[in-house]
Amino acid sequence: MSYTLVSFHAHPDDEALLTAGTLARAAAAGHRVVLVVATCGEAGLAATEILAEGPLAKRRSAELERSGQALGCARIEFLGYADSGMADAPSGAEGAFAHADTDEAARRLARILREEEADVLTIYDPAGGYGHPDHIQVHDVGLRAAQLAGTPVVLEATVDRGLLQRALRLVGRLPGIPADLAPDRFAAAYTASQDLTHRVDVRAFARQKRAAMAAHASQASADAGVRTLAVLLRLPGPIFRRVLGREWFVEHGRTPARPLLDDIFASLDADPVRPA
Ligand SMILES: [Zn+2]
Repeated sequence: MSYTLVSFHAHPDDEALLTAGTLARAAAAGHRVVLVVATCGEAGLAATEILAEGPLAKRRSAELERSGQALGCARIEFLGYADSGMADAPSGAEGAFAHADTDEAARRLARILREEEADVLTIYDPAGGYGHPDHIQVHDVGLRAAQLAGTPVVLEATVDRGLLQRALRLVGRLPGIPADLAPDRFAAAYTASQDLTHRVDVRAFARQKRAAMAAHASQASADAGVRTLAVLLRLPGPIFRRVLGREWFVEHGRTPARPLLDDIFASLDADPVRPA
């Protein structure tokens, strides 16, 4: 059975960290994978030399195209909103996604979901992961769009908070670790372990995931300090697979149970009355 998966993100590079392995795995299994981003990520940090090369929106759109190719995505769409910037450093841009009308934005996404006859939509957890206003909006808009289009399965792409905090406590003892990786920053971020429904094994797709992350070179650049993406890209293969070889989801309407599901299409396969 072949399905269509639409993965909705706020900025170019979000797809790489949270969902790249799952997308690559779905594409390799013969499913249609469509990537949709709300903004071009033009409010993100980047080194002066990269900013001097031209508009960051254009650069980051091209990086997303390369990432999508590496993952086997069949289609990439931009909803055309402006990057809102972080909560403590808003971009103030006109048309910022975080301030967009939820229904209007949901209609744009729902149009794509209908066109694609999407079976599965990935969004973010209600906290927007670490709380970026555009990420919170991805949750709200994505949920509404799935309602409008009748998309049967909605998965919140997230991270196992307990595991993340334990890992950051270990990593925090190493030199050269960015301050934005302090474990306390993630006390209410992402999803508590007991609320997860899926833990997807993507270790076999580490090569594609690394290629997707590497495609976002502007996100690994900065004038000062070390960027998280740059740290992750420097990890040797076995450690990369260990750290980034699993991706977590919460499926709407599904009661969390152990063991966690490994297959994002499990609900579709289990529902024989659903039309093909
Ligand atoms: Zn983002």
